[in-house]
Amino acid sequence: MSILLLTVVFYNNILIKKCYKHKITKNIKIYSEGKKMNRCSKAIIYSENLRNNIKEIQKCLKPGTKLCIAVKADSYGHNSVLTAKIAQELGVEFLAVATVEEGAELRRAGITCNILLLSLCIPEEYNQIFENNITPLLFNKENIECFSQYADNYFKGNEKFNVQLAVDTGMGRIGCYPEEAGEQAVLINKSNHLVLSGMCTHFAVADSLNKDCIEFTKNQYANFVQAIENVKKEGIDPGICSCSNSAAIMNNDDMHINMVRAGIITYGYYPDEITKEYLKSVNKNINLKPVLALETQVVAIRHFPKGKSISYGRTYTCTEDTDIAILPIGYADGLLRRFSPGLTVTINGKQYPVRGRICMDQCMVELGKNHDVKLWDKVHIFGPEESGAKNTAEELASLGKTISYEVLTSLTKRIERVII
Ligand SMILES: *Cc1c(COP(=O)(O)O)cnc(C)c1O
Repeated sequence: MSILLLTVVFYNNILIKKCYKHKITKNIKIYSEGKKMNRCSKAIIYSENLRNNIKEIQKCLKPGTKLCIAVKADSYGHNSVLTAKIAQELGVEFLAVATVEEGAELRRAGITCNILLLSLCIPEEYNQIFENNITPLLFNKENIECFSQYADNYFKGNEKFNVQLAVDTGMGRIGCYPEEAGEQAVLINKSNHLVLSGMCTHFAVADSLNKDCIEFTKNQYANFVQAIENVKKEGIDPGICSCSNSAAIMNNDDMHINMVRAGIITYGYYPDEITKEYLKSVNKNINLKPVLALETQVVAIRHFPKGKSISYGRTYTCTEDTDIAILPIGYADGLLRRFSPGLTVTINGKQYPVRGRICMDQCMVELGKNHDVKLWDKVHIFGPEESGAKNTAEELASLGKTISYEVLTSLTKRIERVII
């Protein structure tokens, strides 16, 4: 019995070691955290498309305007270390993360760009901010004083640590009011070890073409300019100021100031109403390509008679005798339950409907009576054209009454990212 156990442990160890590999794309090394999976449900990351998109964004900027790429949430599900390395290679000056750990991960991978922390964190994380040279956003007395105390404990000499001032010009999230910007900047620069290195604000409706929304964005911008003036009036250099997200980068050339913060467009999707068609109509040709393709394989083909129901809740009943393909992917992978009914997948260039509810780990696709689908055939769920997919994350988003951002960031760690 114990010999059997030892043998099992021994072979398991060999298997784990064998699987412990890292992938290489061009001269970019990406270390996978654990074992290499052979699972067929996976995401292919087209790194050339990522490169293309960053270059397309750079073309939209006036000379001297800095670019910040949002790599938060593991680059919207696309692998933040890969994105950061490509961005850095292309001369991008800033990366934006949402958590301190996301920033630390980039530093461990050797990223040297400036890293901006877009969300707030707690004092227990402050030392990690200093250790990793991450630029936080501050905007009120309590947080500035607390952060400043930690800086006093951390820094022994007279070094100054960069922080940015967040201004709430209408987003209704973080930031001080524009009229408070001056006093907050004074508070920052009065501290022993902090220095104001930039200011930012965030637009709430820059992705809409509705008249009121356009007006609201213009008003937010004017408020931000006022906040910058208020800081200057105190004799303080406002540093690198940014307000434009993806939508504003493409639709509001006059709001770039000295830096823009690009997120979704990096990954190949247009933000809401600022579509490719709209941009063409205003004489802007920006050629973004989706970066991520979600795929799986047919792991069984079954025959179902007319009248047989499919999946939980019996929401679909076969209307005729038909073949059904079983796919090993479900909502625990990020294929959201609300994509069905309506979701179609592509097999050998043809689209087939998902039938019944998407389960946690599996879903079923109707092939019909006459089809050429074979066992193990590749199934394309969404992705760029060259992946073989006919849907994009945007189409899935509209089925699920959400946005491409959520479709992309919903993919879980069970989906291996394979970089090509
Ligand atoms: C996520 C984020 C961005 C990028 O937004 P996109 O719409 O994806 O371009 C920019 N700024 C802030 C503060 C953000 O949180």
